[in-house]
Amino acid sequence: MSEIRARARTILEQHGIRPTSQRVRLAELLLVSPRHMTAEQILGCLRQSDGHVSKATVYNTLKLFVAEGLAREIHADPERCVYDSTMVPHHHFQNVDTGEMTDIRPEELSFARLPGLPPGTEIESVDVVIRVRRKA
Ligand SMILES: [Zn+2]
Repeated sequence: MSEIRARARTILEQHGIRPTSQRVRLAELLLVSPRHMTAEQILGCLRQSDGHVSKATVYNTLKLFVAEGLAREIHADPERCVYDSTMVPHHHFQNVDTGEMTDIRPEELSFARLPGLPPGTEIESVDVVIRVRRKA
């Protein structure tokens, strides 16, 4: 078993997720190192290496990873959801030409002012996406 595969299995087991072969493959792609991937990209990678993989399996596994705190969803634009395996708070650049997302460390960004919160609420998180494009 490759080292990456062994690490993927360990991550799943540590979160009480039964390591089926497809879950392990998905964890290898997304969870072993910091990644930003859409479900379609993951599906494409898996189909290239493993042959037939059902879309439903990929979506269900991603939902499970999110529910178990292994990945989070970033809705950077309405058409696609990106899955991010870095769970510590951080922000993102999104390249609108390529769709690629890169991390911004929280200390690189500060807020001079935040709006008043709706009554009875507190801030859970602040996620900023700075969209960039190639210079004209
Ligand atoms: Zn990120």
